[in-house]
Amino acid sequence: MQTLDDVIARARSLSLPTRCIVDGKETAARDTYDNVSPRDGTLLNKVASGGAAEIDAAVRSARAAFDDRRWRGLAPREKKARMLALAELMEGELQELALMESLDSGKPISDALGVDIPLAIQTVRWYGEAIDKVYGEVGPSNDSKLSLAVHEPLGVIGAITPWNFPLHMAMWKAAPALAMGNSVVLKPAEQTPLTALRVAQLAIEAGIPAGVFNVVTGFGETAGQALARHDDVDMIAFTGSGAVGRKLMSYAGESNLKRVSLELGGKSPQIVFDDCPDLQAAAEAAAWAVFFNQGEVCTAASRLLVHESIRDEFLAKVIAVAATIKVGDPLDPATRFGAMVSEEQLNSTMRFIEAAKKEGGRLVVGGDRVREDSGGYFVEPTIFADVAPSSTLARQEVFGPVLGVMTFEDTADAIRIANDTVYGLAAGLWTANVDRAIGVARALRAGLVWVNGWDSCDITMPFGGFKQSGFGRDRSLHAMDKYADLKAITFTIRGSID
Ligand code: NAP
Ligand code: MG
Repeated sequence: MQTLDDVIARARSLSLPTRCIVDGKETAARDTYDNVSPRDGTLLNKVASGGAAEIDAAVRSARAAFDDRRWRGLAPREKKARMLALAELMEGELQELALMESLDSGKPISDALGVDIPLAIQTVRWYGEAIDKVYGEVGPSNDSKLSLAVHEPLGVIGAITPWNFPLHMAMWKAAPALAMGNSVVLKPAEQTPLTALRVAQLAIEAGIPAGVFNVVTGFGETAGQALARHDDVDMIAFTGSGAVGRKLMSYAGESNLKRVSLELGGKSPQIVFDDCPDLQAAAEAAAWAVFFNQGEVCTAASRLLVHESIRDEFLAKVIAVAATIKVGDPLDPATRFGAMVSEEQLNSTMRFIEAAKKEGGRLVVGGDRVREDSGGYFVEPTIFADVAPSSTLARQEVFGPVLGVMTFEDTADAIRIANDTVYGLAAGLWTANVDRAIGVARALRAGLVWVNGWDSCDITMPFGGFKQSGFGRDRSLHAMDKYADLKAITFTIRGSID
């Protein structure tokens, strides 16, 4: 078992990447920016701050690689072998990648080691393995025709990703895009550039040709905007906020009408009916569904809807689980709840807590900034009971560890409150009644519904939102369709076999 001192010693000896990867080479940008660790507010390193020039160089290199077919022209088995080689190399650096992720984002090292990096590796492997198993179609034509529907890669994919699961989200975009034969230019979040840069280096080692997977670090307003406005980018695949999602659709409209896929936020409800089969399991899920990753999760179950008859009993159980969650140093292997990603995110969470107090929410757990002496950005797990469905906390995404608890009277009431949101990413429900489970699951307007359990992050199932939670799906084979066009090819058959 590692100790905190062991992990700190390893962190000190890490060599952190600083430069973009463009056309297979490490490339400095004209500027750099300070990459700060939310663990203690100290400078980790200075990272390339890419702008329009660096984005243009990366897009040109991606286009050249696409046009000369150095990647898409490889046999499917060969592409698969190289993606599996990348997964192996990532596996070999699991410890280092996890440390970088924890230092950059403030998440517990145990989560980075046990969740983020393994799931990123699984994603690369899963899409690598899929490459030689995806078929096109033969149409039901008459004897004089042979019609094929074939998948064609789109070309150059711009991926813009957030800081909450930095490498995992980056691989949700890059892996299926690469598997379909595209080239990729990835702009990771400014707060968390390290793992993407390292994996782009490993991709070259794995034999993914130069220019096929480029990473340009920098700010959204500069690098991100330049990528999304570029006339030679065929698609932007985005995970992040609705505000930026709206801008991306405008940039696409104002430039070359590139496709856009958006994975945005949520205000996901978790509904606990009075016949919940396991109140203790539901209480664990209610707490961890909003406190995992410090609440910085797009599917966070930030609205807990409890049947009024079990409100007090259930709330007591949730509070007891929350009391076991200690805020700690992200590098301590025992920590399960770490730092917020940035001072900005900390302040924004504190503003939501203040608003909830003013609007009559009853604070039952947490509510304060803690560990301030560390220089890092820590907020306690926080629960408000008696939250009005019309209040800020019930309507706006916090993206921090704040749970709002509400009650409902009957099934129709639960569905109405759950769907009373502009979002539609995830939802959960707990009941022993199969008919109710099926009926409610179908009635909830959300892209993901979990019954009697919360998220298991299953790569085999599509992930994405309804309504203002976005459109387009990550994960599963459906994600591959997004990075391809369908081409219909029809042969007219002149000969006869007679
Ligand atoms: P964000 O501000 O939307 O940033 C996401 C990415 O977009 C970052 O790389 C950012 O660059 C970039 N960006 C910002 N402005 C841009 C612009 N004008 N043009 C192009 N790119 C731009 O979101 P965030 O703060 O990183 O993440 C939190 C949000 O993401 C939350 O609202 C959450 O709900 C959402 N989220 C959704 C999902 C999902 O799957 N549905 C998953 C995770 C997060 P910078 O690094 O410079 O800001
Ligand atoms: Mg950082």
